[in-house]
Amino acid sequence: MDERKGIFLTMKFETSAIHVGEDPNFKEGGAGDAVIPIHLSSTFGRKNVDVPTGGYEYSRTKNPTRFALEKKLASLENAQYALAFASGMAAESTLLISLLKSGDHIIAFDDLYGGTKRLFNRVFHERMNILLSYIDVRNLKEIENSITKETKMIWLETPSNPLLKICDIAAIAEIGRKHNILVVVDNTFMSPYFQNPLNLGADIVVHSTTKYLNGHSDCVGGGIMVNDKELFNKIRFAQNAVGAILSPFDSYLVLRGIKTLAVRMKRHEENALKISEYLLKHKNVSKVIYPGLKSHPEYKLAEKQMSGFGGMISFEINSDLNGAKQFVERLKYFLIAESLGGVESLIEIPAMMTHASILKKDRELIGLKDNLIRVSVGIEHIDDLLEDLEQAFSTF
Ligand code: PLP
Repeated sequence: MDERKGIFLTMKFETSAIHVGEDPNFKEGGAGDAVIPIHLSSTFGRKNVDVPTGGYEYSRTKNPTRFALEKKLASLENAQYALAFASGMAAESTLLISLLKSGDHIIAFDDLYGGTKRLFNRVFHERMNILLSYIDVRNLKEIENSITKETKMIWLETPSNPLLKICDIAAIAEIGRKHNILVVVDNTFMSPYFQNPLNLGADIVVHSTTKYLNGHSDCVGGGIMVNDKELFNKIRFAQNAVGAILSPFDSYLVLRGIKTLAVRMKRHEENALKISEYLLKHKNVSKVIYPGLKSHPEYKLAEKQMSGFGGMISFEINSDLNGAKQFVERLKYFLIAESLGGVESLIEIPAMMTHASILKKDRELIGLKDNLIRVSVGIEHIDDLLEDLEQAFSTF
């Protein structure tokens, strides 16, 4: 058995988040560590030339702390294999490099994280001739109609960023299987606690571990989880060749963050539900988008394919870009910042920040307005968060 396999599949989520990968090392001379040590060695010695004595040769290829994290990541997504990368974008780049060649075609959700679109358009399309179709993947017919003989990948983000549109992973995975096309899901927004795309039939899961998995806004990282050994070997080969690895210290931070993922996600969701209900009733808000609201167009699908609704809310303020700017600048606890998934509440205006690299006309085409505000609801006390929103609205 390949030792990267997720071998703890019978444990409940909360238990594997804490125990998988944490080998106390009771061997002779071992310390019985409660926490996996940070192995800083870039290279590992061997007693004889033929084989690496401890199974490790060079840290770009495999490192004990990163390997512990990879085991934990695999277990969370119910996957056989996982790899940890230097960032979410490093994971995405390595994935495309490992599986695609010039002339291949990707069908992608038209509402993706701006950085993913930038990578696809400016690097893989402009420089490597990867062909792209951005479509609304909620429409399954449109997916079927966009497939060509060059289509190798369908790229999903659900809920999408920042409009929180939800697509049907199981139905799209079925289309992928029928046409022999790989289905990739960026599961960053839900985290493995609320959604497991491999269980729904997807082939590959991508994460920016920078977000909920690490959860403390102090480390940039990425992950890929798969079940197919051949796929895993191709991606692992490319990771080692390209070198897009997570450092031992950052691997330790993500290992630590994951231990509280379940309790954090529950609280993120609890707070997000209360804030979305508050916003829904507010006279200065014209639209609230949260998958846990019955008014969300894909509420039924969200209920079916996710085990919770997450901590992300987007809303349109009854004003223009300037009004949105004034509102967020008045908040005390919501830090104006890109990123999401940290314990602290973060707020941003996609048109000016995360999605500024997308042309205004393209933003408008997918319904991303200038007055849209995206909130990553943190796990502070809900009363403080509501009071802060109220004071920012009251001076409006
Ligand atoms: N995917 C999603 C959904 C994201 O929100 C982000 C970053 O914001 C990324 C991928 C990229 O991850 P990273 O910033 O870790 O490179």
